[in-house]
Amino acid sequence: MKCYDVVISGAGPAGCSSALYLAQKGYSVLLLDKATFPREKVCGDGLTAASSAILEEMNVMDLVRLRLGPLMVCKGVTLFSPAGTVVHGRIAQAGSLDGFAYVIPRKELDDCLIACVKEHSTITFLENTTVTDIIMDGERARGLSSSGGDWFGRVIIAADGAYSPIASRLHLANKEKKHQGFAIRAYFSKVEGLTDAIELHYDKSMLPGYGWIFPAGKQRANVGVGLMTRFKDQRALKQLFERFVAENAFASAKLKHAVMEPGTLRGWPLPFGSFQGKRGRGNVLLTGDAGSFVDPLNGEGIYYALKSGRYAAEAAARALVEEETRAFMHYEELWRKEFLFRKFTLEYALQPLLNNEFLLESLMRFAAKKQKRANLLAGVIGHNLKKSDLLKLIPPFS
Ligand SMILES: Cc1cc2nc3c(=O)[nH]c(=O)nc-3n(C[C@H](O)[C@H](O)[C@H](O)COP(=O)(O)OP(=O)(O)OC[C@H]3O[C@@H](n4cnc5c(N)ncnc54)[C@H](O)[C@@H]3O)c2cc1C
Repeated sequence: MKCYDVVISGAGPAGCSSALYLAQKGYSVLLLDKATFPREKVCGDGLTAASSAILEEMNVMDLVRLRLGPLMVCKGVTLFSPAGTVVHGRIAQAGSLDGFAYVIPRKELDDCLIACVKEHSTITFLENTTVTDIIMDGERARGLSSSGGDWFGRVIIAADGAYSPIASRLHLANKEKKHQGFAIRAYFSKVEGLTDAIELHYDKSMLPGYGWIFPAGKQRANVGVGLMTRFKDQRALKQLFERFVAENAFASAKLKHAVMEPGTLRGWPLPFGSFQGKRGRGNVLLTGDAGSFVDPLNGEGIYYALKSGRYAAEAAARALVEEETRAFMHYEELWRKEFLFRKFTLEYALQPLLNNEFLLESLMRFAAKKQKRANLLAGVIGHNLKKSDLLKLIPPFS
């Protein structure tokens, strides 16, 4: 019976980030995924500058460029207020965080991650393998049961997304409705008037949340609606999406002659990082959506998946050579320090702002008056500026 150093369930951005980090350090990794790649992932496909900077470090972007050719660089953000104020901000290519923002379909991006994984001899990657349970020995996890048999490891990393069976089994899943959102998207072809900017539409009908149009190719767009609260009725969300496409004054102009690509309209949960629960127990660590790490203000999740995957891998590597309990506590400390207090809790507290038409309108009008302010907002949304850079909007800090 082979025992790997680390067994990882799920090979999206979080699982691949963990696997690649551990492989570079020479650890043996088993990476399991239920899908056969390349596979679709319901997403807006917006890769923020902070995410692309991590993928550059991981040497994944070189392969993305090689495979996909010229990428859809996102050089701006256009915001539409509930009353129709339009703010065009440009994303400076060198912000306080490095990297460029892109729109890259997840089917391609995740397949590049898998290709990088396959280059490492210390990673065994099994696709088409569904994890069904954890094999426990008292308080300790010994491995994972799957459709392909049982697998054993000294550390287990759950990176199997918003419906993680591991998080559920350990009673660590985010079940708190106030810390969950839901989003739905489809691809459209023959879209008119696409630019190098992503569009966020704060349409009255979908506050707290927004509709988006992200350019995903020539006349192709990823169009979606994301609600920053748990939506009880998914059929109603579909109706909101249809209304956004057909009736929102700005969106409908772009999408008038567009064609929705069949089978692409799909929804998925957004488990927010503001959830206060623990992200691990014993030698099991939760990362990405499985660990509830999505930004509660805008639904960004790829960056946090990559980063939490990396943190979990760091903790796992420590646990393999030093006192385990302290090493696992290191993960909890790392993500809490980096994400929770500095970001997620504050952002959750700011969520009502997205529900307040008056405040949204005032903010957008204020930003629209000066290009510098609009650029600052764009930089924060494109995540090449930190949220704290928004303080520069306030005169004494500017
Ligand atoms: C509509 C929508 C739009 C979004 N738009 C954006 C955006 O534009 N930018 C952004 O940064 N974030 C966006 N997000 C969030 C982002 O998609 C997620 O946060 C991100 O994909 C999380 O990565 P992950 O690796 O944790 O999980 P996932 O990407 O979900 O990967 C999980 C992997 O686990 C596998 N898996 C699941 N169950 C099992 C099992 N039982 N056994 C084995 N394998 C399993 C899956 O096949 C999958 O490959 C969006 C989310 C939604 C729903």
